Amino acid sequence: MALSHFPEIHQVLLESTHEVLGKGQSGFLQPEEKTFLTELERLLTEQFGTLTGRGMAIRMGRSGFQTGLRRWGETLGFYSLDFRLMPFPRRVRFGLDQIARFLEERTSLQINIHEEPEHWIVEIRQMPSCTRSTSPVLCSLLMGMFQEFMQWQGSGRFFPVRETQCVAQGSPCCRFEISRKPLE
Ligand SMILES: [Zn+2]
Repeated sequence: MALSHFPEIHQVLLESTHEVLGKGQSGFLQPEEKTFLTELERLLTEQFGTLTGRGMAIRMGRSGFQTGLRRWGETLGFYSLDFRLMPFPRRVRFGLDQIARFLEERTSLQINIHEEPEHWIVEIRQMPSCTRSTSPVLCSLLMGMFQEFMQWQGSGRFFPVRETQCVAQGSPCCRFEISRKPLE
């Protein structure tokens, strides 16, 4: 599955992989966009097993968010005074909307965000032209990205993120619930 039509996003993914796995391991991966996620999934599962492999993909998503923040944070308005002065819930919503638009413009993902009393909800679909099923490794990368975004916004506090529906399990979309309350 090709996630990105935008080489810079693919580059961030590659860098995150190198950072978490070390070049010795990740050097086995083909750097081409088309097969990258499938190969990453296979490598992680073979080397570390499903559970640890997912944990590593989450770390890659976290690292990818930090890299993306350094590269595009300014463009996305994340360093503006207006943004920093917003109340926390508005700032989170604005940030999630900005990330969603950014990814929609550059990948095959369609992202919908809405709010519930206890959670921010992020629903992610592939564009109809990309009918092949999503890869669980992508879900873990996205989960890590949301975790890191929330920790950054919440001054280091940890906000639980759960994936409650997944395309890989037959659901129409991948649905992430981001808790409005940090862990004590
Ligand atoms: Zn999923």
